[in-house]
Amino acid sequence: MFAFASLGSGSRGNATLVAWPGGKLLVDCGFSVRETEVRLARLGVHPQELSALVVTHEHGDHLKGIAPLARRYQLPVFMTPGTYHSRRLGELPDLRLIQSYASFDLQGLEVQPVPVPHDAREPAQYLFRYQQKCLGLLTDLGSISPQVEAAYQKCDALILEANHDAAMLASGPYPYQLKQRVGGPWGHLSNQQAAGLLARLDRDRLQHLVVAHISQQNNAPAAVAAALEPWLAEVRRVTYACQEQGFGWLHID
Ligand SMILES: [Zn+2]
Ligand SMILES: [Zn+2]
Repeated sequence: MFAFASLGSGSRGNATLVAWPGGKLLVDCGFSVRETEVRLARLGVHPQELSALVVTHEHGDHLKGIAPLARRYQLPVFMTPGTYHSRRLGELPDLRLIQSYASFDLQGLEVQPVPVPHDAREPAQYLFRYQQKCLGLLTDLGSISPQVEAAYQKCDALILEANHDAAMLASGPYPYQLKQRVGGPWGHLSNQQAAGLLARLDRDRLQHLVVAHISQQNNAPAAVAAALEPWLAEVRRVTYACQEQGFGWLHID
């Protein structure tokens, strides 16, 4: 059993659940403790079942609920030193600082941090390996570095950001500075960038592609679908993550 699900995905809060026979972990938590409890319950999980919290970076839509949840349920928190030092998180029951280039083992799950270009202190996205299978999480990056492209080549399941449509962002409601930030090399992936990465990946082994961190202002389901469509033929199942529901359990065979 190797599966994953989401409590919500987008600029108003993110949290991804990973389950394997050795435990369950939550990657990021951009929700209050109460909201997290409600959203976990929808997926049949109680916070006491979690083995660890893993953090990608310090932006509020990923970090907001981490420290309160860790204190409430006495959970270990894994993050890079840069992420930890960028905010005052208060007392954490069990802080585990990680190196953003070094894999570590969590009760039989291999966790590999991958540094990404994003406007945070020391952001990392993650690859999770259980036995021969690999789940990739890749959101909150403004450009695809050669290291990122190499790291994510062999995923059996991939959660991939398609944040905005470049034309919709340009003509949309955001102020100029925010457009520059979101669309820039340290911001977020556009549909077009996501499609470019997908085109260059080994898609034969992709059981699941989850399109994630989709902007509610600067994107539309039809725009994402049109951009990715040429590269979806080999993918067994495509899921669109949403802000309110995230997505339900997906199993990697
Ligand atoms: Zn984010
Ligand atoms: Zn971010």
